[in-house]
Amino acid sequence: MSTDVQENAPRIWVTTILFSVTFLMPITAVPAYGILVGYSLAHWVWFVVFLAFCGFSITAGYHRLWSHRAYDANPLVRAFFAFWGACALQNSILIWGSGHRRHHRHVDDNEKDPYSINRGFWFAHIGWMLRNYPSGDVDLSNAQDLQRDPIVMFQHKYYLPLVLFSNIGLPALLGWVLGDVIGTLLLVGVLRLVISHHVTFFINSLCHMWGNQPYTNTNTARDNFVLALVTYGEGYHNFHHYFQTDYRNGVRWWQFDPTKWLIASLSWVGLTSNLRRVPDFKIQEALVQMQFEKAQAQLKRIQLPNMDAWKETLEKEYQQFVETMTEWKQLRAEWYGQKRQALAEKKQELQEKWQRAAVRTRFKEMEYMLKMQRKRLHLLNVNFAAAV
Ligand SMILES: [Zn+2]
Ligand SMILES: [Zn+2]
Repeated sequence: MSTDVQENAPRIWVTTILFSVTFLMPITAVPAYGILVGYSLAHWVWFVVFLAFCGFSITAGYHRLWSHRAYDANPLVRAFFAFWGACALQNSILIWGSGHRRHHRHVDDNEKDPYSINRGFWFAHIGWMLRNYPSGDVDLSNAQDLQRDPIVMFQHKYYLPLVLFSNIGLPALLGWVLGDVIGTLLLVGVLRLVISHHVTFFINSLCHMWGNQPYTNTNTARDNFVLALVTYGEGYHNFHHYFQTDYRNGVRWWQFDPTKWLIASLSWVGLTSNLRRVPDFKIQEALVQMQFEKAQAQLKRIQLPNMDAWKETLEKEYQQFVETMTEWKQLRAEWYGQKRQALAEKKQELQEKWQRAAVRTRFKEMEYMLKMQRKRLHLLNVNFAAAV
């Protein structure tokens, strides 16, 4: 940990008071009103609607769309995310996106990562917003694309009126319709805001502390299913830090990632497009690489009767892995080369189709080899763990 990080930077009173007051209300005024007056079903329904709108606007909008450019979205969708993102009260898209890009670029670096987990849970969760730390200085040089987006700039310019209208004006209006302004302000306004805040903050804190690291151990990010349940799928943070341009965080079909389902569903009706996916083979490569590292680390810690044979087995597996990856990279380059050539020469369609089918078959074979290797290594790791 760096020693020259300024831990007692000047306090930011606006955020300190805002976070303190909004946090105190759900443990005092919100339950008191519930006991004395009570909340109706309509209150709770609107609470869930506002919570979901804010949550998805941060995960699908602020995060995957604007910070990572993982897909393109229709202006209607962007306007929706910009409005409800302001309601989530986590700063404008421009500031949020720029800071988040810095978090990825300098992850775990105490001086450059705005919410480095190496400065502790509290700092990564909320502390980084309570003082004017040099690591949190705004530098928009990494957000020039965002500055060209008129919706982003509109939201940035009118951020305060948008925040006030969405957090106070709209719930008050809704309360007037429902016949209970105070109850609606407490539930749909305050309780929703606090839950929405801390759920997002968990991604910066707990998702860098608890869980496993199936894709990389080069940073602190973790995959955690339980956190994915409350963060609209952002809990698969280890995958996300390794493959940040992928529109999915929970990459397997069964992984709970409602944000990816939302983005995919919107693409079926033409509201989102160009959904970026990392090639499956690259994902498998990362998984196998981590299995190797795990096996090698375990082999150093345990004592088996035939250690040399195990080391040799692992060595052979690794050799095969390197060969598969080299061939895959060559084939991929050839594949693109052939595509370009076919286009330039206007080759006969039949010949082109045949070539493509042959390459595709080889790709499938290699994918299968890698999958089998991952299974063998998994088995090896289970056995090694049992021998510890
Ligand atoms: Zn990210
Ligand atoms: Zn992170």
